[in-house]
Amino acid sequence: MTFTIDSPATLIWRDGVFIPEEQSRISILTHGLHYSTSVFEGIRAYQGEVFELERHCQRLIDSAASLGFSIQYSVQELCFACRSLLEQLDLSNAYIRPVAWCGEESLGISQAGVSSHVAIAAWEFEPSLPTDGLALGVSTWRRPPPSAYPTDAKAAGMYAISVLSHREAIAKGFDDALLLDHQEFVADASVANVFMVKNGTLHTPKPIGFLNGITRKVTLSLASELGLDTREAYITLNDLLTADEVFLTGTAYEICPVKSVGGTSFPARDITDKLRQAYRQATLVHLN
Ligand code: PMP
Repeated sequence: MTFTIDSPATLIWRDGVFIPEEQSRISILTHGLHYSTSVFEGIRAYQGEVFELERHCQRLIDSAASLGFSIQYSVQELCFACRSLLEQLDLSNAYIRPVAWCGEESLGISQAGVSSHVAIAAWEFEPSLPTDGLALGVSTWRRPPPSAYPTDAKAAGMYAISVLSHREAIAKGFDDALLLDHQEFVADASVANVFMVKNGTLHTPKPIGFLNGITRKVTLSLASELGLDTREAYITLNDLLTADEVFLTGTAYEICPVKSVGGTSFPARDITDKLRQAYRQATLVHLN
């Protein structure tokens, strides 16, 4: 990856109170640590304003529900907590990481009687992405079918596949991994969704078996506003390799051009650049 999300967080919001980061430790017996009963979010603030905050907080609650536990805060309370943390830390361009997990009362596989917790960290974040685009390698790992896991949740358990795929891509000299699903259709990247442009039409995989990203949804809306033809479809690797343009979307990546997949290059950039500009504008719209 060409940017890092290393946390130099100093203050944590945890279960309703602010505590110094060094006091925010959890028990070795935490259910979420052993069984991945844990969900999280990645959110960005631009010049002090948090982008798509309500949607992210709603997704945190929905992801927890998909894993069978509930979060004891409303969307409004979580939004308020995120904004208060930014204010406390005096952050302007920031990455915000809420995480929710099942606690330490029991290591039984059942979550019965196990408490749920929420913590939020935030830190200054201004990634520099390569202007010439990312080189992706096709992962040997696959996304599971939705019958195997609640793949629409932003759940910690799904990230083992992202970690393995990303590490494999880096070891092979790529910037990131492209993942296929269990039927060998194009799914996503390790922490981003994928789009391609072919003959002027924007295509993206149907969100089945991977996270339907908020940036992906925003990008589809922006594309429609720009009058682009958009299509959600099953995409084969060969479809992708014969595209005119390929790009990734995600909170951290925003809209990031892909220069190659497995060595096949995509020199065109016109529509990607238009969408990048529109997305940038959308993140700063509150300043107008
Ligand atoms: N897929 C995966 C696996 C991700 O981790 C992310 C980043 N959250 C995305 C897609 C993009 O999601 P979003 O646009 O909501 O950040």
